[in-house]
Amino acid sequence: MKKYDVIIIGSGPVGLSLAKALSNSGFSVCVIDRQTKDNLSDPAYDGREIAITHFSRRILKDIGSWDLIDQDCISHLKEAKVLNGHSPYSLHFNFEETNQTTLGYLIPNHRIKSAVFNSIKDDPMISFIERATSKSLSIDGDGVEVELESGDIIRGELLVAADGRLSGSRRQMGIPVEVKDFGKIVIVCKMNHEKDHENIAYECFHYGRTLAVLPMVGKQCSVVITIHTDKAKEILDQDDNAFSEDISERFNHRLGKMSVASEKFSYPLLACHADHFHAERFVLVGDASVGMHPVTAHGFNLGLRGIDTLTRILNEAKTNNEPFYTHDILKKYNQTHQMNTRTLYYGTNLIVDLFNSERSAAKFMRRFALRFGNNVWPIKKMIMDQLTETK
Ligand SMILES: Cc1cc2nc3c(=O)[nH]c(=O)nc-3n(C[C@H](O)[C@H](O)[C@H](O)COP(=O)(O)OP(=O)(O)OC[C@H]3O[C@@H](n4cnc5c(N)ncnc54)[C@H](O)[C@@H]3O)c2cc1C
Repeated sequence: MKKYDVIIIGSGPVGLSLAKALSNSGFSVCVIDRQTKDNLSDPAYDGREIAITHFSRRILKDIGSWDLIDQDCISHLKEAKVLNGHSPYSLHFNFEETNQTTLGYLIPNHRIKSAVFNSIKDDPMISFIERATSKSLSIDGDGVEVELESGDIIRGELLVAADGRLSGSRRQMGIPVEVKDFGKIVIVCKMNHEKDHENIAYECFHYGRTLAVLPMVGKQCSVVITIHTDKAKEILDQDDNAFSEDISERFNHRLGKMSVASEKFSYPLLACHADHFHAERFVLVGDASVGMHPVTAHGFNLGLRGIDTLTRILNEAKTNNEPFYTHDILKKYNQTHQMNTRTLYYGTNLIVDLFNSERSAAKFMRRFALRFGNNVWPIKKMIMDQLTETK
């Protein structure tokens, strides 16, 4: 029976991007997922618009996925404004303050998923097993075995869990995870509007809820509402006219009349961070390692950062004729990636707590934080570097 170099459980955008990066480096890869190839090659619209940093664009370009994304659906983010309550004052980022022509890119999630799948589907180094759910894992000195629910067994040298933030493989490996349930839901949909958005993204921290308005191609935007779970149903059930009027009003008619242009989708707000990302012959990537709150738009971007780190470390071992699956090699990935994720994870959760608190001290701190961020250039530059990842 064939023994692959790497088995990846999960063909989300991170699992598939890793498969391609590894195959480009000469590793044989087997990807397994519950989904079908048809679903993955033409996934349904899911309401998520993903903000992609410059670093992530580079990775997607290197693995050959970027050019498979329909370029007409990529929106360029020129400015970003963060507003507090009903104050017109904003923390303002402009691409002109960077050495790039844009702060980043906004791309529909289903387009990213189909591009990464189409980049692997004919790759001779990658086998894809569809409609396959992993049932149990067994790891010893000789290798890794994944038993599927069908009873089939897949063998490999290294197992990668890319099975999302509720990762079953992580649980089976006994890796502890810190979970933060924000008690909120994020509701997303597309809206048309009268005025030009001028490629400006807005994050409005209103009291009791937040509203992000992200510029898509043409006179269309992605609206992202975060709201306490017990209030979400009311919004989801609102008819299109009432919803459209409410959002136009809450957005102070900056874009003129707004009207719903898609179904509304909702996602529970759960963030998680695994205690460590590796074990003997086992690693965690993507949301299975760190599931971020979407406010700083870093989930997929961090996933790609992890792929870059892991591929480099596995490659180095291969070039040095060392076994690439040992605890010591994988520990290097853990150390580097933990350094990249921990600060961002806790920093993001802190921002969310600060901007969602109704306490007067928090309201004061918010006003202070926006002014401090705007006026102290090293701080502003640090935030901008983190958000755009130009390096
Ligand atoms: C509203 C919203 C907005 C977001 N905006 C941004 C943004 O602007 N920028 C950004 O970088 N990120 C953003 N994110 C985060 C981003 O969407 C995720 O980080 C990314 O999709 C994670 O991909 P993944 O491949 O790790 O996991 P997933 O996409 O969760 O994929 C996991 C895969 O594993 C499979 N699977 C699970 N268990 C098994 C099993 N036992 N056997 C076989 N297969 C299995 C599933 O079928 C699935 O295909 C956003 C998220 C949300 C909810």
